[in-house]
Amino acid sequence: MAERDLVEDCVHCGFCLPHCPTYQSWGEEMDSPRGRIDLMRGLREGKIPMTPTVAGHFDKCLGCLACMTACPSGVKYDVLIEETRAKVERTYRRPIGDRLFRGMVFSVFPHPRRLRVIGALLLLYARSGLRWLVRRSGILRLLPANLRQMEALTPDVGWKELTRALPERVAPAGPARARVGVVAGCVQRVFFPGVNDATLRVLAAEGCEVLVPGGQGCCGALSMHSGRDEESLHFARGLIERFERVPVDAIIINSAGCGSHLKDYGRLFRSDPAWADRARAFSAKVKDVHEFLVALGPPRAVRHPIQARVAYHDACHLAHGQRIRSQPRMLLRSIPELEVVDVADGEQCCGSAGTYNLFQPESADEVGERKVAAVLRTRAELLASANPGCTLHIQRLLKARGTNLRAAHPVEILDASIRGVGLPGGEPGHGQVPSAPASAPATRTG
Ligand code: SF4
Ligand code: SF4
Repeated sequence: MAERDLVEDCVHCGFCLPHCPTYQSWGEEMDSPRGRIDLMRGLREGKIPMTPTVAGHFDKCLGCLACMTACPSGVKYDVLIEETRAKVERTYRRPIGDRLFRGMVFSVFPHPRRLRVIGALLLLYARSGLRWLVRRSGILRLLPANLRQMEALTPDVGWKELTRALPERVAPAGPARARVGVVAGCVQRVFFPGVNDATLRVLAAEGCEVLVPGGQGCCGALSMHSGRDEESLHFARGLIERFERVPVDAIIINSAGCGSHLKDYGRLFRSDPAWADRARAFSAKVKDVHEFLVALGPPRAVRHPIQARVAYHDACHLAHGQRIRSQPRMLLRSIPELEVVDVADGEQCCGSAGTYNLFQPESADEVGERKVAAVLRTRAELLASANPGCTLHIQRLLKARGTNLRAAHPVEILDASIRGVGLPGGEPGHGQVPSAPASAPATRTG
């Protein structure tokens, strides 16, 4: 019922069309927000069936939400596409290859332990020389595009990063200003451990007692954005239960896509009497790390200068999904001598979009090439991005052009400034375990 109302909010003005990356790519009405909303209406009214072509137009949507920012009528496209994707998964039987690939992705990505095993195998693949051989042999060209994309996207993670764990508690520097819980994430935890390390250190340096509840699983964002709603809600219930055990003032997330989803738990469980209040209470505490640090008030930790030019990339689920644009820039600009520049057409997606670059590799690269060209035009020596998927995707496309641009999460840059260690960034996966203050217990979590 809600979906019908939301579909009817669209007045067909077309203001969103030039902002939509897939419409920019192909100029097709059915690959624009307005066209997709028309397809949703047709499905609801039973005027069109769910054919491979119709499902394809929804699959090709990045879910970047640029259309929501552009829409003067306030159409809730995020809810519409989420509900439609679930409908696609329920009513459309995908070709066998697609089903197998999706099954493989979702049996690994939302499971940090399994991701670690895959990470160890990838390490072996890289260190044994097999990767070099495979890439040189040209055998990859025989693989389907999505498997080639997956191989190319695998980050280099060291053994130390794969096997280490986050502390369960980090004590604040000085009197506590707040008590916070940190969501460790899945891909972030395994492939970008340095981002979580930096988050813990910065929060502690700014006077927060930081807790990382053990046994955290996935938040469910990847599953929900791919129409796997039951699986996603299962993950969400698990995370809510974990955080109910630790009384905190705020629940901090440093990944844009996850943050957007965590803030939506209240809506997702609104019709479930057993979980509605619990989900609402959880979502009310969720804060993106940049949002939280700025709201905390004047910085306590001294910033050391970093002489560099950094291009800030707006992750879609931070800028469009959570409307957080100024806070990451404010934090970066609090670092002496750091020059912060914007990427032209910053409202446009980079093509990563969660699992989009795995399921729609050609479109992801087409969209991503426009982003990479804009990033290079900034002549920055460092790219700041608050979403692990964006960082991996942009760096892969840069490498394919023979360019290596360092990349870091804004919190990693802030952390480097506070510690006075210079320019961070580089290959994903690098970082250090936070130096736990003397009062921090030795217990660690996965
Ligand atoms: S979410 Fe992004 S790709 Fe999808 S219709 Fe909106 S602007 Fe286009
Ligand atoms: S801008 Fe909004 S109202 Fe106008 S066509 Fe796009 S979605 Fe519909």
